[in-house]
Amino acid sequence: MKILFAASEAVPFIKTGGLGDVAGALPAELNKLENDTRVILPLYGDIVEKYRTTMSYVGSTVVSLSWRNQYCGVFEQVLDGVKYYFIDNEYYFKRSGLYGFYDDGERFAFFARAVLEVLPLIDFYPDVLHANDWHTALIPVFLDAFYIHREEYKNIKTLYTIHNIEFQGKYGRDIIGDVLGLPEEKVSIVDYAGCVNYMKGAIEASNAVSTVSKSYSQEILDPFYAYGLEDILRRKKDKIHGVVNGIDTNVFNPKRDKALFKNYDKKSVEDKKENKKGLCEMLNISYREDVPVIAMITRLTEQKGFDLVIRVIEDIMCRDVQLVVLGTGDWRYETKLRDVEQKYQNKMRALITFSADLAQKLYASSDMFLMPSKFEPCGLSQMIAMRYGSVPIVRETGGLRDTVVPFNGEKGTGFTFYSYNAYDMLGAIDRAIAVYNDKESWKKVVENGMKADFSWKKSAKEYVKIYEKLIK
Ligand code: ADP
Repeated sequence: MKILFAASEAVPFIKTGGLGDVAGALPAELNKLENDTRVILPLYGDIVEKYRTTMSYVGSTVVSLSWRNQYCGVFEQVLDGVKYYFIDNEYYFKRSGLYGFYDDGERFAFFARAVLEVLPLIDFYPDVLHANDWHTALIPVFLDAFYIHREEYKNIKTLYTIHNIEFQGKYGRDIIGDVLGLPEEKVSIVDYAGCVNYMKGAIEASNAVSTVSKSYSQEILDPFYAYGLEDILRRKKDKIHGVVNGIDTNVFNPKRDKALFKNYDKKSVEDKKENKKGLCEMLNISYREDVPVIAMITRLTEQKGFDLVIRVIEDIMCRDVQLVVLGTGDWRYETKLRDVEQKYQNKMRALITFSADLAQKLYASSDMFLMPSKFEPCGLSQMIAMRYGSVPIVRETGGLRDTVVPFNGEKGTGFTFYSYNAYDMLGAIDRAIAVYNDKESWKKVVENGMKADFSWKKSAKEYVKIYEKLIK
């Protein structure tokens, strides 16, 4: 099968979150199953230098966006058996940062249209065009409006994956005439609640929709999780699938990870201690073997459950634990975390930065990994944590519910709570601490997590099944 995977970020070229990890791992796994999967990305100014300088030029064309005609170059690069294409337009993409610009609606409309426009140039007409999140949501909409009648495009099917429903690409109706240039009879596809909504357009126009875990695919039918899209999702629920993400087990491998103070695997898990020592020394907090280090590695946002954490952070600090939070985000949470760090200097660190190196060190050195998300489409961090022997404490929602099994003394990989309530979270932390103090049981829960299979293999097969169903 020929698959074109369109995304706004992919490891190792550029990443801001989980979508980048998925786009960097799933295509290679699909290719191991005898598919020809290629990936298409914007050529951002921020793409890692060593890749920028080694890609080769394919050609250029012109992309129209309503009254505009914009230059569109294409570069390519092969990595791990996957061909990557990069859409070049310096006006749209040669900026510092990926998202958050006043003209994001236009930038990603350009990217979506460019993906369709360059198919003759790259001479690749996929069986399935797989679009992801709001940035590429206009692909199925534009395919339907402008390309599907053309001979080479008429058999292309589309799968649209929602990684995070919070960001939908919502704009005023002016954008229809000014940027999208949609014919009158197609406007209703993107129209939602008086606005233009890119994600709604994709849900409507694509042949199938998926989310990144089974639980989340059910949850988004409920207003608490749907961010206003419950009506359209309920109408389209028969074409919604849930496929849980995996992690790249070669990249996230404590045996080979170069960032660690000392490498280890499930047979030499006692070497985790050396990482804990290394981290405590680096952060200038005392190393205490019998006291658990709780880690959080995350965007500091409401989604990740920081309202709960902040509410009981003093209660957490009153327990015999050490807490290290790595992340950036909402200034309210950043400020509060810094305050707590001041107050509890020997047991708390707030590392307000984005650093892959620090993240890996922290996965390896921590005993517990706290992730009390309000909603979590899939979440990769909890799987990485388990692979590194850091036991997750999570809220039972979305992908957290599907990947963390509550520990019952024998089986299970972590500690969970259900209600979005700070004291329920505290209860789960207390249960984790109690098991930590029982060395034999703790060994078991750590081992169970390290043994669990979070590779992409199984999920890639599920995607293939969806693609096959679409082309049949
Ligand atoms: P989301 O995509 O919602 O942010 P995920 O758990 O799916 O959450 O993926 C987050 C990814 O980003 C993980 O690989 C995690 O290690 C990484 N990450 C998050 N915050 C940081 C940070 N401050 N520094 C380095 N890596 C981070």
